[in-house]
Amino acid sequence: MTQSRRPRPPLPPGPWLVVGLARSGIAAARALLARGERVVAVDSGSSAPPALPEGLEIHLGTDGLAFLPRARAVVKSPGVPREAPVIAAARERGVPVLGELELGWRLLANEFVAVTGTNGKTTTVELLGHIHREAGLAVCVAGNVGTAISALAGELPAAAVVVCEASSFQLEDTLAFAPEGAVLLNVAADHLDRHGTLEDYLAAKLQIFARQGTDDIAVAPAGLMIEDLGGCARRVSFGPGGELDDRAGQLWWDGQPLIAHEEIRLRGAHNRENAMAAAAVCLARGVAPAAVRAGLASFGGVEHRLEEVARLAGVLFVNDSKATNVASTLVALASFPDAPVHLILGGQSKGQDFSVLRGRAQAIYLIGQDADRIGREAGGQRCGDLATAVVRARAAARAGDVILLSPACASFDQFNDFEARGRAFRELVRQEARSRRRG
Ligand code: ADP
Repeated sequence: MTQSRRPRPPLPPGPWLVVGLARSGIAAARALLARGERVVAVDSGSSAPPALPEGLEIHLGTDGLAFLPRARAVVKSPGVPREAPVIAAARERGVPVLGELELGWRLLANEFVAVTGTNGKTTTVELLGHIHREAGLAVCVAGNVGTAISALAGELPAAAVVVCEASSFQLEDTLAFAPEGAVLLNVAADHLDRHGTLEDYLAAKLQIFARQGTDDIAVAPAGLMIEDLGGCARRVSFGPGGELDDRAGQLWWDGQPLIAHEEIRLRGAHNRENAMAAAAVCLARGVAPAAVRAGLASFGGVEHRLEEVARLAGVLFVNDSKATNVASTLVALASFPDAPVHLILGGQSKGQDFSVLRGRAQAIYLIGQDADRIGREAGGQRCGDLATAVVRARAAARAGDVILLSPACASFDQFNDFEARGRAFRELVRQEARSRRRG
């Protein structure tokens, strides 16, 4: 791969107002300051984030409107709504508003592969990074999680491909952003019945294709009922009947078998879709099929998403702490069709219906604040905390069983976030491994 041949529009002239001081706002401010721009940053929250760049003028606890007259361009963080008074006012006054993705893309001369969709973005971008590394190609994975795009400015070799996760919030603030490869993974059906907002949601996602050219690649599911994705890229579909086909227990590319289902290391039909999408964009962009195959066979997944922590005495411990809703837990359970599953469930239930989980697992161990309500709907035994649930599950599990933390709930009642919950699970499994060795 080489440097992107696509010229970037110049940045509008400053001074700049950065709205929202989380990870991407700070990265945007730092990148602008490094170019010698004058930058003011505002946030409606009142606590100063750690590690602010030197020379940045910040104002906290403000909607930022008072600072707009001093700015000739605005960076909007993805968490800031379009309706925020300062953003609405900037648009009204003709002050350009750039999202952080747009800014980062304009500051980099690299090729981009961007991934959007309701579910599976993180898994797919990490898999794409892995396949590029298998192929010996320079790559940098960035975006919605991890490194902000504008933090890469001045840091990357020109030949590196930037693989980035692009949420609908980031895409709705793009103006010229046009990645060489763009992937739409899926659009969740539950969003599909919400007219009005759904149209906006879909329109934002389709921005990923809107300005692509004829040399670019647009990947979308074969079953997607949208005739015109927008833009001029070559459309490549994945799934049964697609160009990256799925039939007879194998994936196919260009009429040739690529890889058998069981050779793909990621588990579950949902992850097979992520694997197909990643393979399709790589193959269409000329990555060698052997490298794609090797990448799919060796990529073990992303932590907290069906992460295989350990196998102890034949029992597989799986950390799926990222599953914070019932739909994700159903997807996780479907990934183990042949093994009895001991499911650790619970936390903050967010008013969901858990009865669909009843009878889906060999046993359910309930944790967290809403255990009683969840138990009435899904069944299962109250364990209180995660440590008790792990002890009880491993006492009951036999060789060949799976102990799955896939809580279907938010974690904030007992943990700082889903990552902390997943790390706690991993630590409990480690302790279990140590005590077995001693015993
Ligand atoms: P995102 O970054 O879009 O939130 P992740 O890769 O972090 O996606 O996956 C989040 C959860 O979404 C996973 O734990 C899994 O339950 C579910 N998921 C992942 N890929 C898919 C897919 N292709 N279709 C449906 N659900 C999926």
